[in-house]
Amino acid sequence: MAIYLDYNATTPLDGRVLDAMLPFLREQFGNASSGHQSGRIARAAVDVAREQVAALVNAHPSQVVFTSGGTEANNLALKGRAARLISGYIVMSGVEHSSVRTPAIALQKHGWMLDEIGVDADGLLVSENLQAIFSSMPADSAKILAVMLANNETGIIHDMAPIEALAREFGATLLVDAVQAAGKIPVDFTGSGAQFMSLSAHKIYGPKGAGALIVDKAVDMEPLLHGGGHEKARRAGTENVAAIVGFGKAAELALSELSTRHAQTQTLHHYLETRLRSELPQVCIFGQQAKRLPNTSFFALPGLDGETLLMNLDQAGLAVSSGSACGTGDVEPSHVLLAMGVSPERARGAIRVSLGKESRRSEIDSFIGCLKQQVRALQSFAAVAYA
Ligand code: PLP
Repeated sequence: MAIYLDYNATTPLDGRVLDAMLPFLREQFGNASSGHQSGRIARAAVDVAREQVAALVNAHPSQVVFTSGGTEANNLALKGRAARLISGYIVMSGVEHSSVRTPAIALQKHGWMLDEIGVDADGLLVSENLQAIFSSMPADSAKILAVMLANNETGIIHDMAPIEALAREFGATLLVDAVQAAGKIPVDFTGSGAQFMSLSAHKIYGPKGAGALIVDKAVDMEPLLHGGGHEKARRAGTENVAAIVGFGKAAELALSELSTRHAQTQTLHHYLETRLRSELPQVCIFGQQAKRLPNTSFFALPGLDGETLLMNLDQAGLAVSSGSACGTGDVEPSHVLLAMGVSPERARGAIRVSLGKESRRSEIDSFIGCLKQQVRALQSFAAVAYA
């Protein structure tokens, strides 16, 4: 059995989540829009899940729009809002996930102007840069700002207060991608002042293919999918009841176990980084001066290629990532590291370890042992190759 250290890519389904879902894959197969009893049972289950998801991020249940995942939630926020505002400026941090970057880039074809805000060496958005960009725009122009709460690669956590204050001052609609933050740190939609927040079930031990966009009801947006009046006409399509129920249960567990999970992963995370620093002193851990998620370490070892290291570790039964899982297969260095000013050579050597609630100290011991072996082998190979 492989040692799994890639929980930011996805998490296993919690057994309790599966138990909650199973009745809705078997006997309770009703359509949540049907008026008869089986429909009402499905509707009631979706409503419970809506409350559970809302509670995880301190939102009102009526603000939850269920989607197929974080990617759809980000697309819905950006394209849905852009469709109502017609034209203006999209501003995003230089470290956003591709599910924000790509729709933002695509909206340029529809007349939207796009600005990327520089980040500092730890990958944190520089507020002065944001202020300068907003100040350069016509005061009455429409603006949409996208800043993630926690970064999927480095785990850095943005301090949203100054960002939200600037969004409010300049009248920008704020989208906060909380896909990696939810379930790992406390998240407060109501207190954040954001108009949109995206979530994903499979990052919190829920099923794949379920997520949500939390929407401030005062904000007007066009749905991506038109059809029936599902999700209060914000997202048409028959609800995936079992997946939504699973998402709800996963959210409930994430909230009730938040402090235990946080403490447990933080201890292991500290152990991992202490060993990395002492046994591989040449290691460079990205974003280490910033506040980070308690489970994520993104690091590079000089002279090593991350993809080769990843493959060798995989053969040894260790699952880690060389950056964003969504970028696997594309060998471009991480855009997050490049935005932080890391050289392409160093960025190509980066490996991400992300821990989860099932992670154990013995797994970290195996990882460190294997990593040291691989590093020795690859470095001696490189020494021979360049001799
Ligand atoms: N946003 C962030 C920060 C992510 O890490 C991911 C997935 O890796 C997504 C959005 C997309 O979520 P989903 O996989 O549910 O589409």
